[in-house]
Amino acid sequence: MTDTAEQSIKIDGYHAHVYFNPSTRARAAQLRETISATLGVECRELSDEPRGPHPVPQFRFTFTDSQFQATVSWLMLNRDGLDVLVHPLTNNSYDDHSRYAIWLGTPVPLKLNTMSRTYRPEQYPTARSAI
Ligand code: ZN
Repeated sequence: MTDTAEQSIKIDGYHAHVYFNPSTRARAAQLRETISATLGVECRELSDEPRGPHPVPQFRFTFTDSQFQATVSWLMLNRDGLDVLVHPLTNNSYDDHSRYAIWLGTPVPLKLNTMSRTYRPEQYPTARSAI
């Protein structure tokens, strides 16, 4: 990290997207329950249809900078074979889902050309306004 321009980019939280298909849906549902009950993150419902840049079913959860270390290390050990995208929330969602993304498992080809560059307010962690 020697690029000072990169260092000045503000991160307002993170998303994790957990991908599944019909044969792994039950595992995804179980993982979502566990995450929701134990990690203290904001977990959305399973989305069975393609949504935004995500071409296959997934669910998403949102977390803050202070939750990053515990959340990502937990996912490394407990993702149950599911592919997971973790991306920051900067002011450029295109970069967040490409050059700034980290993947656990196999990357899913995203439909980046369908994205808007900015996020809706509900896509940020609720706690952001309290920081
Ligand atoms: Zn996202």
